[in-house]
Amino acid sequence: MKVLKFGGTSVGSAQRMKEVAKLITDGEQKIVVLSAMSGTTNTLVEISDYLYKKNPEGANEIINRLEAKYKQHVNELYSTDEYKQKTQEFIKAQFDYIRSYTKDIFTLFEEKVILAQGELISTNMVTNYLQEQGVNAILLPALEFMRTDKNSEPDPVYIKEKLAAHLEIHPDAEIYITQGFICRNAYGEIDNLQRGGSDYTASLIGAAVNASEIQIWTDIDGMHDNDPRIVDKTSPVRHLHFEEAAELAYFGAKILHPTCVQPAKYANIPVRLLNTMEPTAPGTLISNDTEKGKIKAVAAKDNITAIKIKSSRMLLAHGFLRKVFEIFESYQTSIDMICTSEVGVSVSIDNTKHLNEILDDLKKYGTVTVDQDMCIICVVGDLEWENVGFEAKALDAMRDIPVRMISFGGSNYNISFLIREEDKKKALQSLSDHLFNNK
Ligand code: ASP
Ligand code: MG
Repeated sequence: MKVLKFGGTSVGSAQRMKEVAKLITDGEQKIVVLSAMSGTTNTLVEISDYLYKKNPEGANEIINRLEAKYKQHVNELYSTDEYKQKTQEFIKAQFDYIRSYTKDIFTLFEEKVILAQGELISTNMVTNYLQEQGVNAILLPALEFMRTDKNSEPDPVYIKEKLAAHLEIHPDAEIYITQGFICRNAYGEIDNLQRGGSDYTASLIGAAVNASEIQIWTDIDGMHDNDPRIVDKTSPVRHLHFEEAAELAYFGAKILHPTCVQPAKYANIPVRLLNTMEPTAPGTLISNDTEKGKIKAVAAKDNITAIKIKSSRMLLAHGFLRKVFEIFESYQTSIDMICTSEVGVSVSIDNTKHLNEILDDLKKYGTVTVDQDMCIICVVGDLEWENVGFEAKALDAMRDIPVRMISFGGSNYNISFLIREEDKKKALQSLSDHLFNNK
């Protein structure tokens, strides 16, 4: 069985819901995970904000506006009065429930209940629509099988058992619809898997039912075409190893968050990224298979700052790096690239909020130099050290470009360069020519 996940924009209007419905009704049995309609979770967060600030009037205004929007969606989505009425009633009950929270004390617990409404409504709408169309669709209540433990980590044993029980109730359904993002915690309270958590839901469900494939459908084709950060002139990236996908995630590629695909990766279930705007395209398959000796993609990230700390005290000393790293840690600033020599260390950061304090502290340990407006260029592919020729090829491409740092060997799937932002375009073009077009 396959698990398909559609994000907020893919179910963002009545029209889009109809398109999703068309896409998923092919006679094959499947589980479909849905997000809330786009913008809804943000609006629910806003409502909660007003309630935290003890402003029920502000909250009610937004609640009414959101409810009016949903009324319109319902009118557009269904063709029969029966389904219009049935869904309208459901939505009204959910909104009345949200309103009941404007009258009492408001805590994190209440906020989570409110945040869950977006997915509860979207899945109800789509299930009803499919049923109106005569499709054998069943709603699986995520709150009855998706669960986290006392450490707020998903509980795979519970999920597997409860989900199987729910599937057994309707063994012949064609489509099982369920809510992404929402769950219950170890105490049975309504909770969620953090913002954007629907991908995580899909991955957990895929692992629980030992799916043949998990499909993540978006309407932005992040891996290629629209994404200026990824350059691959020859063809879209068809296949990535989970680790390659993780490397690319830092570059803001519209790709999955590495923690979200962890359950799929461990269960060895391939994840396919697909585009609702181009449903017949094969998309990008992420799996545990490595394509031997192949470079997959080049990505870039701007606004990087490089810091060099040079000290003769570092020579033959131990504990020097720890002291340097502790400074960054104390200012909650994460280090991305790092290069060392016997007497110096260079690091790159992308968060400069505490740059001045960091520099001040670093000066205790050596001479400090800073380079701003830098850019990380990252080459991703099968770069295992025993392979020969790839480092040389990448380096050759950078022949005419001043390179501030090079990092290789941190993982088997990456080589990174730090260059000036102004050289980015040239570097990307040259890497693309050398690595993909054999120029
Ligand atoms: N609706 C939730 C959010 O906007 C979960 C998701 O879309 O993945 O964060
Ligand atoms: Mg989302």
